[in-house]
Parts: sequence; C-alpha cells; structure tokens
Amino acid sequence: MVCPKCGSENVSIQAVSIVSNQKHGLIWWLCIGWWWLIIKLIGWICIGIFMLVFKLFKKNKVKTTVHSYAVCQNCGNKWKV
Ligand SMILES: [Zn+2]
Repeated sequence: MVCPKCGSENVSIQAVSIVSNQKHGLIWWLCIGWWWLIIKLIGWICIGIFMLVFKLFKKNKVKTTVHSYAVCQNCGNKWKV
C-alpha cells in the first residue's frame, strides 16, 4: 500500500474503534413529556420502572464502530481502508 499524500510505502494497518454517543431527537423529548403526564396520573411507583427503561434506553444509544485505518509511518497521514 502506498500513502496518497507522500507516496511512501511505509504504511501500517490498524484497527481504530470509534464510540459515538447519539443525541436525543425530538421524538425522544415528546416521549419524555408523555411519561411525565403518566407519572402524574399513576404515581411515583412508575418512576422506578421508567428510570429502569430510561437507563436501558440510554445504554442502547451508545454504539461502537470499528474501522480499519492505514497509517503512514513516513508523514503520519491516516486514511480509511
Ligand atoms: Zn505519507
């Protein structure tokens, strides 16, 4: 493999993991708004359940993507393979 920047053949391939935390959208906020109405109607017992769902929901939002990157040992240029 040849570096597209400097033309050097001294290139190594390495795995880079990227953790992206997605931000909540409008639909998510609408859902929370409804939750507050339900909590007012049913009571504080529901909060425990909702918080549990909320935590699980939050956990699922974090996703890890692994990409292979080629790194030039000559100029430090990095690009996706
Ligand atoms: Zn290079």
